[in-house]
Amino acid sequence: MTQHYDLIAIGGGSGGLSAAERAARYGKKCAVIEKGPLGGTCVNVGCVPKKVMWLGASIAHTIENAAGYGFSIAAVDFDWAKLKQARDDYVHGINDWYHTYLADSNIDEIVGTARFVDAKTVEVGGEHYSADHIVVAPGGAPVVPDSEGAELGITSDGFFELDALPRRVAVVGSGYIAVELAGMLNALGADVTMLLRREHLLRNFDAMLRENLMEEMLGDGIDILARTQVTRVVREASGSLCIECENGQRLEGFDKLIWAIGREPLTAELNLEAAGVTRDGGGYIRTDKFQQTNVEGIYAIGDVTGQAQLTPVAIAAGRRLSDRLFGGMTDRYLPYENIATVVFSHPPIGTVGLTESVARDTHGESVKVYQTRFTAMYNVFTERKQKTAMKLVTVGAQEKVVGCHIIGPGADEMLQGFAVAIRMGATKRDLDDTVAIHPTIAEELVTMR
Ligand code: FAD
Ligand code: NDP
Repeated sequence: MTQHYDLIAIGGGSGGLSAAERAARYGKKCAVIEKGPLGGTCVNVGCVPKKVMWLGASIAHTIENAAGYGFSIAAVDFDWAKLKQARDDYVHGINDWYHTYLADSNIDEIVGTARFVDAKTVEVGGEHYSADHIVVAPGGAPVVPDSEGAELGITSDGFFELDALPRRVAVVGSGYIAVELAGMLNALGADVTMLLRREHLLRNFDAMLRENLMEEMLGDGIDILARTQVTRVVREASGSLCIECENGQRLEGFDKLIWAIGREPLTAELNLEAAGVTRDGGGYIRTDKFQQTNVEGIYAIGDVTGQAQLTPVAIAAGRRLSDRLFGGMTDRYLPYENIATVVFSHPPIGTVGLTESVARDTHGESVKVYQTRFTAMYNVFTERKQKTAMKLVTVGAQEKVVGCHIIGPGADEMLQGFAVAIRMGATKRDLDDTVAIHPTIAEELVTMR
């Protein structure tokens, strides 16, 4: 017999859980289908365990900086296995919390892999489930290239399984994950080499951010090889990895190689053809602004849509979808402009809105930019004189702020409030008229000339 629901979410990650949870609050009968641990990428192999490692790495930097503040720290012992155990316990606690939460919210948890039978029905482990509304939120998985020996490397998923700190690591890639993992591994004591196929890290970010980050990472001792495309990976007799590159370079002696070259949508198992849902060339499910796919009653949210692949985006899209379907908010949708994002590098990056180059391409001469670069008080006393840099991109006579880009200590926590102001249409004058908080790094954003 087919069990019928108001809403079924395929995927118990950030997006699927949020859509079902919000629908259930409106009294709707909902189910979440999940083939792995609840919480999806973010909880299990993404934001959460990553942030734990970043916090650990930040402590390592603090210890390095302590001497400038009069501390002499004789010997520092770091126990990777202990941190991993504590991190895994924390993640398992969140998984358990979700089981209870779903039960308390009267949402059915269906364990297994969902496969469409038709546009209203999915099959899981031989059982059929139908719904008026089906939300497709299967997320994505790391890409591994098809080059020879690629299987000798690991991905971010494998990073979270490491039982010990690797001695020497190659990180291939130049996006969020490459930058974050390289920074954490370096701070915790590994010898890290980054391999970029092009010139820059974080190519789509404001040039000021990527240039400052590159300088800081080099200053921290990370080796960054630009224009270095991997062609082959070989296991040497010693057991270590040798990386052969298109430019003829042979890089030897790595005990780990991490592929961080992007993620791909997890749609292969869904049998979307049975429902008539189409995908684009990259396998992503395209939707209209209401998250509606090409098939009525089937929606896609989160990473599978290929837009702003961030947890709060998947959550907001899911909640707004259910508000629209069941809460009477017929016009509710998630606009994808001005979404703030943080890269948990060392130091962190916080960025929202247009980069300077996109603003100039779009608004031409009416763009005015304010920027500053300085040594924050914290770094005046540390041996490594890390720099903080900020940029405001404004447009028009009113100098409406359309971009805010920060790299430096606290950028991650600083940005949220500025993102609110920018969303509300703040002008440079609004920032100038805001009384500063002193002495802070953030005050520079309201005192820029
Ligand atoms: P997911 O969270 O991936 O959930 C999809 C779920 O669907 C998975 O649990 C999967 O098992 C399940 N599934 C797939 N197919 C099926 C099927 N056929 N049947 C049943 N279940 C299925 N974002 C941030 O905002 N901040 C960060 O700091 C951050 N750090 C990250 C660090 C890393 C290393 C990674 C990889 C990602 C990070 N992200 C971060 C991105 C964030 O994790 C994703 O944007 C977010 O998890 C997407 O949510 P989702 O619901 O679309 O997919
Ligand atoms: P990204 O898309 O951020 O970066 C991957 C980069 O790798 C590409 O931009 C490309 O850069 C480079 N690349 C692609 N193919 C190859 C190749 N064959 N060889 C070498 N380099 C290659 O992907 P990530 O995997 O880093 O992260 C996926 C997404 O997850 C992010 O976009 C982000 O949305 C999310 N995320 C968010 C985080 C956060 O919020 N802090 C943290 C981690 C992930 P180029 O074209 O310049 O060579």
